[in-house]
Amino acid sequence: MIRGPVFAANWKMNHTSRDAKTFMRTFLVQYARRPDRTVIFFPPALTLASVADALKGRQDILLGVQNIHWEAKGAFTGEQSAEMAKEAGATFVLIGHSERRHVFGERDEETQKKCAAALRAGITPLLCVGEKLEERERGETDAVVLRQLRAGTAALDPAAIGSMIIAYEPVWAIGTGKTAQPEDASAVHSVIRRELAVLAGDRTKETPILYGGSANAGNAAALISAENVDGLLVGGASLEPEVWASIART
Ligand code: PEP
Repeated sequence: MIRGPVFAANWKMNHTSRDAKTFMRTFLVQYARRPDRTVIFFPPALTLASVADALKGRQDILLGVQNIHWEAKGAFTGEQSAEMAKEAGATFVLIGHSERRHVFGERDEETQKKCAAALRAGITPLLCVGEKLEERERGETDAVVLRQLRAGTAALDPAAIGSMIIAYEPVWAIGTGKTAQPEDASAVHSVIRRELAVLAGDRTKETPILYGGSANAGNAAALISAENVDGLLVGGASLEPEVWASIART
């Protein structure tokens, strides 16, 4: 159940199970239960069980995986299915993260198959979209974001689209220390919000649209105050428990 602004921690390939336990000992003291927001952790798949264990009794904090394959099972060495992720305690999955797209060559049509697989398994897709620096400089931001949004949601039932989370993550801002200005993020979020309405009508009014890209404790408040920015997807600044707790309390 998603309530209020969403604060999502993408740990990428950081934190072993042992690190995660140490992290949670500090984080859980510093982040008291808050009914007005949603906190989600995306640890590495092999660390998920230890995070789930550390979060026992804290049903206010949710879990996701960073990737799935679109098939339920089969000869796909190194992959995990949505069903496996769900069984391990994930209720969300990141799809189309810029590192999947630009480091691992994930294509638009694969993001669609992954969104469909997640929804089939009862997991909420968090679809990431965002332009590269050269695309921004050519004035193509809206076109890229709309292409990725339409492709990721193609052929999905409107009700399913309405249940998703979208993250706008400009590639040039991820892990670079360069953050989009709140008004620039807000402008792209408005484009996404309008397109969601075209794709799936009124049921997308409440669809959370998160911003991601070098968000930190210093800029989180300004970013989530911007119109149509419904939360943050945070990489680097989610790795330290004190810093992440202060962002999640924003
Ligand atoms: C991310 O990985 O989704 C991300 C936004 O990373 P960072 O906060 O480090 O830019």
